[in-house]
Amino acid sequence: MTKVCSKSLFFNHSLTGKALLIIILMFSGFLESSFAQKPFKIVIDAGHGGKDPGRPNKSGIKEKDIVLNIALDLGKKLKNSGNEVLYTRDKDVFLTLRQRAKIANEADADLFISIHCNAFHDSSVHGSETFVYGLHVSNANLNIAKKENDITFLDEHYQETQESFNPSSTESVIGLTLMQEEYLDQSILLASFVQDNFRKDLNRKNRGVKQSGFWVLHNTYMPSILIEAGFMTNPNEGAYLNSKKGQTEISNSIYDAIIKYKKAINYSDDFDVKSNNQNPITYKVQIAAGKRWLELKSYNFKGLKDLSRIKQGTIYKYFYSSSKSLTEIKKKKKYARDNGFPNAYIVGFENGKLFEVD
Ligand SMILES: [Zn+2]
Repeated sequence: MTKVCSKSLFFNHSLTGKALLIIILMFSGFLESSFAQKPFKIVIDAGHGGKDPGRPNKSGIKEKDIVLNIALDLGKKLKNSGNEVLYTRDKDVFLTLRQRAKIANEADADLFISIHCNAFHDSSVHGSETFVYGLHVSNANLNIAKKENDITFLDEHYQETQESFNPSSTESVIGLTLMQEEYLDQSILLASFVQDNFRKDLNRKNRGVKQSGFWVLHNTYMPSILIEAGFMTNPNEGAYLNSKKGQTEISNSIYDAIIKYKKAINYSDDFDVKSNNQNPITYKVQIAAGKRWLELKSYNFKGLKDLSRIKQGTIYKYFYSSSKSLTEIKKKKKYARDNGFPNAYIVGFENGKLFEVD
């Protein structure tokens, strides 16, 4: 809505009747299109809670309290910058893993972020690590920790075996696995941003991005990460995690990582508003659509360049080329069809709305 106001103010210098009409037309147009794009929705999951204090440790620090503080602070920052935020819990209550995943899935969120702290019998162990779902540490994108630190500290309440998963059919197991694999690239991207920020901004020891079979990550239908913010059992790190300063710095780092992630996947909160300025129709060639997010690199699209993407609901649509001229875009459609996209077709964008041309 800030954009609407600044645009309208621009005309305040010459408030003739005509200008006023323009303002009203623009305002109504902007208003309509502002609501056409749903805000980026993030579910923040503070681990544990209620009867479940989290990882046991001798320091008296409670994981459930630390992670709730970080979650609430992160949520506040995200809300202030126009995102939609849902918490699995915003107070000290117990929730099952199933309830947590259900909240995220029913909200059809764009991201699921679970926040935890670690504990280990050796108090010298410290650092942060971020998990994505996966049973095999095989992806080249993974920043694998050095061998001596390459221990996966499964949060005991979050092991896949902890809560039995009873699917009603074989397909549902396959479906869930495929679903999370679809989002793996995005989950890894966000996890890398989180770890990078911890390392660069906060000088934290980076234990890396890891794959693990966390139940709650497996059962969410969106890019999902689980952050182990640090070790409560390490005296220095424990004190840091338990401090207001530490919690604020950690939530700042996660916040910045989410903003970077939104830019990287080209998520635009004001996609429709921008296209509203175009006059009147922009044509593009739609070449692909699906649940999978792909980087707009020519090698992902059989060598085609000049690519763009929008998200509609849970589907990403991919386009080749862009032109005001229908004649021009028809040539581009032929080129796309001749180069590996036999079903390519022309779409138009008008007032931020997509329609099919042929
Ligand atoms: Zn935990």
